[in-house]
Amino acid sequence: MKAAVVHAFDRPLSVKDVPVPTPGDGEVLVRIETSGLCHTDIHAAHGDWPVKPAPPFIPGHEGVGIVERLGRGAAGLAEGDRVAVPWLGWACGACEYCASGWETLCESQRNTGYSVNGGFAEYVVASAAFVGRVPVGVDPLDAAPLTCAGVTTYKAVKVSGARSSDLVAVYGIGGLGHLAVQYARIAGAAVVAVDVVDSKLKVAHELGADYVVNAACEDPVAAIKALGGADVAVVTAVSPKPFQQAYASLRRRGRLVFVALPADNHVDIPIFETVLNGITVVGSIVGTRVDLAETFELHARGQTRVIRESRRLEQVNEAIGQVERAEVDARIVFDLR
Ligand code: NAD
Ligand code: ZN
Ligand code: ZN
Repeated sequence: MKAAVVHAFDRPLSVKDVPVPTPGDGEVLVRIETSGLCHTDIHAAHGDWPVKPAPPFIPGHEGVGIVERLGRGAAGLAEGDRVAVPWLGWACGACEYCASGWETLCESQRNTGYSVNGGFAEYVVASAAFVGRVPVGVDPLDAAPLTCAGVTTYKAVKVSGARSSDLVAVYGIGGLGHLAVQYARIAGAAVVAVDVVDSKLKVAHELGADYVVNAACEDPVAAIKALGGADVAVVTAVSPKPFQQAYASLRRRGRLVFVALPADNHVDIPIFETVLNGITVVGSIVGTRVDLAETFELHARGQTRVIRESRRLEQVNEAIGQVERAEVDARIVFDLR
């Protein structure tokens, strides 16, 4: 099968022929139709994070496709089902996190496209219990970005507790951010979108953002303070500066949700202001299987729009460059059909 493989953190991916994997116990073989390019795949390919994947590996955790074969004991699925293969590839189901609805924090979890091979390939093997069912009528080109960008920002807005009287600031209107804007609107909040690229802000406006701020030309902190300050700030922009600005945009009792994972891993936050202003800072990592099902359900009901452009898998390295230079309106999706 064709796959995009990372051989070294300082080299481009190579698109090559590799053996089709065999599904083990409780696993299924999925024939990939579409596969989204998340900025996380770029971090993975560059070895940006403190915990690194081990090359050679196949990235991709927004793979959507058709179940082609069931391994022994793979329950709940049939050949021909359309499924999504998310970042949370497997969790133990028995630890206190799994048992309390926080399987995304399981210490034994496997991560698709990181600790196990992912969806930048014609086939992927996945745990039957952890794939998401794609509802009938949802376009596989839309389903792919929902599998990570969607569920992650759906969950981030959920943990922020955003509600109708709130102002939510979304920093970074890329793959994740363009969906974050929509989930905050669905929660009933007013939304201020912050990016450094005008075309991204145009997308945010079309998707319902009430205010937009180009942080390359205007101080987003002053702009958001002039609106009364944000009750919630969700950060999906890939550098520490927007984290700092998001913090400073908050009003008292504000909630700051860390979502982006920049290579530069540190941000300065003042203790005194955090205490006196009653600020909450929370990290949010993807979402559970139930969050993913809810994300798909909202889309099937016509509540969200996915902005994406298709590419061939052979274009993976150019596509990575375009995302890094913020030249893509929201998401690139590889079409393997
Ligand atoms: P992306 O490249 O599509 O989007 C990033 C956006 O930030 C771009 O629109 C860019 O123009 C904008 N930006 C850059 N500098 C900015 C600045 N100074 N101020 C405001 N905006 C700025 O990336 P993505 O796929 O949306 O992923 C974003 C981050 O989220 C990555 O670090 C990724 O690894 C991380 N991520 C985290 C989770 C999680 O579960 N926490 C899940 C998926 C992705
Ligand atoms: Zn992702
Ligand atoms: Zn567990």
